[in-house]
Amino acid sequence: MGVMNVRRRLIPTAAAAGAVALGLMAVSACSSSSGAADKNGEGKLDVVASFYPMQYLAEEIGGEHVAVSTLTKPGVEPHDLELSPKQTAGLGEADFILYLKGLQPAVDEAVAQSGVKNTVDAAGLTHLEEHGTEVGHDEHAGDKHADEHAEEEGHDHAEAAGDPHIWLDPVKYSEVAKGVGKALEKADPDNAAAYKKNTDVLATKLDGLHTKFEKGLKNTDTRTFITTHAAFGYLAERYDLKQEGISGLDPDSEPSLSRMKDLQKIAKDDKVTTVFFETLVSDKTARTLAGDTGLKTDVLDPLEGITDKSKGDNYIEVMESNLAALEKALGAK
Ligand SMILES: [Zn+2]
Repeated sequence: MGVMNVRRRLIPTAAAAGAVALGLMAVSACSSSSGAADKNGEGKLDVVASFYPMQYLAEEIGGEHVAVSTLTKPGVEPHDLELSPKQTAGLGEADFILYLKGLQPAVDEAVAQSGVKNTVDAAGLTHLEEHGTEVGHDEHAGDKHADEHAEEEGHDHAEAAGDPHIWLDPVKYSEVAKGVGKALEKADPDNAAAYKKNTDVLATKLDGLHTKFEKGLKNTDTRTFITTHAAFGYLAERYDLKQEGISGLDPDSEPSLSRMKDLQKIAKDDKVTTVFFETLVSDKTARTLAGDTGLKTDVLDPLEGITDKSKGDNYIEVMESNLAALEKALGAK
């Protein structure tokens, strides 16, 4: 027989008393009729997602067969999230964990120690690259790109782990979605057909989003955009744009005075119109830079969480708002 599981302890008292009264037979009948050991009381797979873009994948692909909870609460900036002891303990009871290694060190550590069999690292489902505050079409042309990857594979110290913001490129996000679909099929074979179908539906939506971005950003007055933190590196590469982040990959890092000076020059040289800020982090530096340079401000949402203030109710809607904001700022024709 399988290991004693949590569900057995959750049997309502009356039923448990009945089982005791009927002796061992009733207990074994109970455990054999309960199906796969990896389901909760409602027959759903308990999925824990680390933050919103993982939650969205789990909900879209898992559909009615999963119960999704998210470690990063709405409105909380996910970088460097700290977990409560309750969250850490609860993680061990998940049937399936979906996270993104390299974004939230506390989550990475808790997942590694959770003992949960079905853990999926989204970063392992696509290809990560190293990005700094500046990402653009110029510096990624030709050989340099190949060198970077060679270097990435050669060393594995933490700083070379790569830019985790893969979800902001619809093509990479779709790759991740397909990997998550396969992992769910494997973890819960009874519902494999549904997971496969839902994955196809989501991949089609993401393809459509990618086509909209491609068309919308094809012809613009400038290719450069300024963001609060450098979350849009993959998006910039995908659509041949140039991202200039005020701060780096982590929104907590403070921009230096020289970085602010550089940005003033870049804004002028590249005919930048807008400084973008985000919904979950302070807009102070963005507004300062915009004030100093006479530029407009607007929201470009890195989708690290969804709140009432988000320009859309889900990933696709917010990405469409992002596209509209980029088209406006870049002078799309
Ligand atoms: Zn970020």
